[in-house]
Amino acid sequence: MDLAAASATQNTLVINCGSSSLKFAVINPATGHCSLQGLAERLGSEQASLSYEDDQKKNSFQLNGTDHQAAISGVIDLLTKYQLLNTLTGVGHRVVHGGERFSQSTIVTNNILETLEQLNHLAPLHNPVNVLGIKAMLELLPDLPQVAVFDTAFHQTLPQHAYLYALPYEFYQEQGVRRYGFHGSSFRYVSQQASELINKPNNQSNFLVAHLGNGCSACAIKNGESVDTSMGLTPLEGLAMGTRSGDIDPSMIQFLCDRLSLSLNEVMTILNKKSGLLGISGFSNDMREIQQAAEQGNEQANLAIEVFAFKVARYLGALAVSLPSIDALIFTGGIGENDRLSRSLILEHLAVLGFKLDGNLNKQNGNEIGQISSNDSTLALVINTNEELMIAQDTHTLVSHA
Ligand code: ADP
Repeated sequence: MDLAAASATQNTLVINCGSSSLKFAVINPATGHCSLQGLAERLGSEQASLSYEDDQKKNSFQLNGTDHQAAISGVIDLLTKYQLLNTLTGVGHRVVHGGERFSQSTIVTNNILETLEQLNHLAPLHNPVNVLGIKAMLELLPDLPQVAVFDTAFHQTLPQHAYLYALPYEFYQEQGVRRYGFHGSSFRYVSQQASELINKPNNQSNFLVAHLGNGCSACAIKNGESVDTSMGLTPLEGLAMGTRSGDIDPSMIQFLCDRLSLSLNEVMTILNKKSGLLGISGFSNDMREIQQAAEQGNEQANLAIEVFAFKVARYLGALAVSLPSIDALIFTGGIGENDRLSRSLILEHLAVLGFKLDGNLNKQNGNEIGQISSNDSTLALVINTNEELMIAQDTHTLVSHA
């Protein structure tokens, strides 16, 4: 990586387009400093607005229009106002699905755009808006290189036995039905950080990682490469999440349709939007609120935490079979980085893998290297993720070698 060559005045604009929102950040890929960041929300409605913050203050304004194009125009106006536009060397876009076509980040050309559009069916809620963001940026800033950074790319190293479902083989061959995995930029970032912390080359390090945010997934990383992960063809598989169920018995879908007279779409909406922490607690998908309620004696909240933690531990146990040894288990994402109780429950379930918690270290979210395990335990670390920095660094590296 040619990061040393990135000067303090060379920034990357990182864009993360969702269906009704757009997050942006101006990041220096060498120092990680973020000089401006913000969020355009309620896109598609009359209330579309953009909020942002620099080093000192927060602010917001109504957008001049309601769509993603208007949001990107608003971002460019801000960059002009802050005199950041001509510090940019490139724009890095988070793209959710790269299918089997993309095993690393890439500079976007017309051909690449066409290929991305061919992958839309794999992530119909996400990829089309990601492509929209790239196109809007290309139109407004045609001279600036655009880079696509994929959530799936890191997992393209999965061996066939890990990515194939036990389904008729032609489903894979003809429809691309396989495990893709997501959260790749986060897994890549925290595993690189962990290698530095334990002073071992990344390509000789073996990690288990639990990325626990609103979306949650876990990953086994062998010699720096992803070898198994919990999310599948879509982000619904695997761990229980804020509102997603994670793994269920597939026959349950038919069962729920029949017993509750629900359509397939209705059941899928329940699995994606009304399950997980929200489904069990009955009142929130937000771990902070659930912890608070549990402390006040709310039984359902307590149950949600217990189910959540058990599923994480169970999956980490399953992922461990892909590793020759474990250099460290890494906790990351909003819950992984902050929620002491979940981490302690998870490690308790993982005693069989040699994990022992140090309660004091856990309370302070880890010592100077993020360690929360006792000294006679398999190492467990808390590492703050930084997907935006990973996107900025990939963008800078590709752009400076173009
Ligand atoms: P996203 O996946 O949207 O990036 P985050 O990584 O920010 O989400 O994680 C959001 C989750 O982290 C929420 O469930 C939130 O309640 C939880 N979280 C954030 N801070 C804390 C905290 N101090 N204690 C417990 N949970 C927290």
